[in-house]
Amino acid sequence: MGALGDEEFRAEVRAFIAAELPSDMASRTLLGYHPHKPDVEFWTAKLDKRGWAALNWPVEYGGTGWSITKRHIFDEECYLAGCPAVNPQAFHLVGPIIYAIGNEAQKNFFLPKIRSGEHFWAQGFSEPNAGSDLAALQTRAVREDDEYIVNGQKIWTSEAQYCDWVFCLVRTSTEGRKQAGISFLLVDLKAPGITIRPIIGIEGGHVLNEVFFEDVRVPVANRIGEENEGWTYAKQLLGAERTFSAVVPRCKGLAVRTRAIASRDGSKGRGKLIDDPHFARRLAQLEIELMAHEATLARVVAEEEAGVNQHSPTPSILKVKGTELLQKLGALAIEALGDSAIPDYPEADYLLDPPNDAPGAPAAYGVVSDFLYHRSATIYGGANEVQRNIIAAQLLRA
Ligand SMILES: Cc1cc2nc3c(=O)[nH]c(=O)nc-3n(C[C@H](O)[C@H](O)[C@H](O)COP(=O)(O)OP(=O)(O)OC[C@H]3O[C@@H](n4cnc5c(N)ncnc54)[C@H](O)[C@@H]3O)c2cc1C
Repeated sequence: MGALGDEEFRAEVRAFIAAELPSDMASRTLLGYHPHKPDVEFWTAKLDKRGWAALNWPVEYGGTGWSITKRHIFDEECYLAGCPAVNPQAFHLVGPIIYAIGNEAQKNFFLPKIRSGEHFWAQGFSEPNAGSDLAALQTRAVREDDEYIVNGQKIWTSEAQYCDWVFCLVRTSTEGRKQAGISFLLVDLKAPGITIRPIIGIEGGHVLNEVFFEDVRVPVANRIGEENEGWTYAKQLLGAERTFSAVVPRCKGLAVRTRAIASRDGSKGRGKLIDDPHFARRLAQLEIELMAHEATLARVVAEEEAGVNQHSPTPSILKVKGTELLQKLGALAIEALGDSAIPDYPEADYLLDPPNDAPGAPAAYGVVSDFLYHRSATIYGGANEVQRNIIAAQLLRA
């Protein structure tokens, strides 16, 4: 993908990672467990020092100003080497909204703290009765002088338990269309009246939370843009990251890991699974689909850089294909592990005390957890059924 300049860039990224990434951190990340906050803080600070933390931001806000192709190369190298991912809600979601819509005070206060890893952000959009139909949200913000008083509940709030701030869509008016009365607030998660309750996932990990707001006072100065215009900003934010939702680096990493698992010597004198033509064909089929998916991503990136075809439903197509591939690869990895997939390797145990003598370890660490967690990939970021509706509507309109 790309000209010689891009390959030189790839070599530069590899050299940086080789020099700066501690090997224990890389192995923790590569196993697929949820991010370990101290690792993310460490790596974000390293990237910031090099000027590479905010790869998707413009230079004037401390970003790299890289082309989309370079960002893709960087993401891929980081993922395959096991670099901890920076807080996605901060860098990919709220950061771009703050520099695009926020005022000078908001930009000056929040952006440097995101880049340095000092502030971690959560996304407070979904509610118990507002997911796909997000505009049905009911969390109320009532203005009292220079503050909003917020009451309501958010749900599925990823990583809220260790985030510092949450960006929320709240209802500031019930007049007119439901999309019309929504505002975009930045809320300090340490504010009095906020309660965070964990939701333990099917994989046994703690990523998800419910967040309750009871008379939480939020300064009007923490509103992004105009009152009742939050829906417009949210739409901008949700369509922003085209390449991010394609999960190409994650799929590639999983394909490599699945091939490695299947290439191990079988137990009790059984040969390697990869020598079984039926298994080899199925893995090859997914690898081919992944190559086609990556080629689609490359085409989309090229179109985006050339400023053409801006209104095609490609983000939705990339999200649907990438997340479905991820789930198929995860299922094949578990099949390749066979009996070794049965023991549970919870992340807490692994992070504190890796059980190296467990059957199948370390090949099996994280595989089942990662697979189970990513059952949700076809739901979060906009359910795939809804993405298919978008694809159909946009293609039929074209
Ligand atoms: C792991 C995970 C992390 C998440 N992190 C966050 C977060 O950090 N912040 C946040 O705000 N939210 C987060 N979410 C919430 C996520 O955005 C919602 O789950 C998602 O938008 C779907 O909403 P819902 O769960 O209410 O399901 P619903 O909208 O109730 O959908 C239920 C089912 O009905 C289908 N459906 C709904 N409407 C249609 C339609 N019009 N046509 C066809 N089918 C339809 C859906 O596809 C789905 O299969 C997360 C979710 C998960 C699973």
